[in-house]
Amino acid sequence: MLRYAVIGNPITQSWSPFIHQQFSKQTDIALSYEAVQVEAANKSAFQTILQQLSKKYAGINITLPYKRWAFEVLKTHHRLSDRAKDAGTVNCITFANANVWLGDNTDGIGLVRDISQNLGWHLQGCKILMLGAGGAAQAVLPAMIETNPICIDVLNRDLSKAKAMIEPFKGAHCEMHCLDSCGKISYDCIINATSASLWKELPSTIDTLHAENTYCYDMVYSASPTVFLQWAISQHAKATSDGLGMLVEQAAESFYQWHAVMPDTKIVIEQLRNQLF
Ligand code: NDP
Repeated sequence: MLRYAVIGNPITQSWSPFIHQQFSKQTDIALSYEAVQVEAANKSAFQTILQQLSKKYAGINITLPYKRWAFEVLKTHHRLSDRAKDAGTVNCITFANANVWLGDNTDGIGLVRDISQNLGWHLQGCKILMLGAGGAAQAVLPAMIETNPICIDVLNRDLSKAKAMIEPFKGAHCEMHCLDSCGKISYDCIINATSASLWKELPSTIDTLHAENTYCYDMVYSASPTVFLQWAISQHAKATSDGLGMLVEQAAESFYQWHAVMPDTKIVIEQLRNQLF
């Protein structure tokens, strides 16, 4: 039986084993998928761990805090998809053989599929505000640009990070600006890619922001609406969603990379939502 895993630190909270087991049942593809805690002090130690994992698993997903190191190891020694090159991080590795590993990033396509296919929000021609300029924001930015919005503004406390993040996309077909505070511009869609909701906080940058008639998406997911989504509802947002669908869609794209079969995600999103309560 082919073996897969998700690695990170911490990892006990990961829903990836549950999601991949549901995909396996649904598609009749026999596999095992486990969560593996990895403790690597530096990139070189992480590379050694990847070599060990490559002997045991056909593929792995990578979560915090190792997505950037995975990118750097694969950039130097192996192959990267265009999506991973644009994202600067890797969340999915296929171990084709001992010498050929392919690194990919499925977060961006996961977010866009959730927004466009599951939620039915149309981003083409929209003004988008991205909150945050960390790893998740960077990973999804190329896929967001591909949806053909009019503009994407990136609002982050640390303006230098936002500037560095959009630099490679200068000349893209949508306008992009960096902000460290927001005025009174209204947006069609706000994506919260900060980690503030994990600490039950609103992003500190949104004090003057309005969200009336705006699609509001929080990448963080939880059983009850996050603080950001509560704020959006109080602002009369057009529609709101947390990031549970993104989690399942990015997993589905990994599953597709490994098995060339796209699972039904809607049913798994529902199952997972029930598990969260
Ligand atoms: P990082 O630590 O790389 O980045 C965190 C970002 O949040 C930074 O831009 C930081 O700003 C900002 N931030 C944190 N706290 C606040 C605050 N109180 N007010 C304003 N800005 C704040 O994290 P990631 O980018 O990797 O992840 C971001 C979130 O996305 C996480 O919560 C993660 O759970 C979620 N995620 C969800 C996925 C899914 O499938 N649903 C997939 C990937 C991530 P600054 O730079 O100024 O410090």
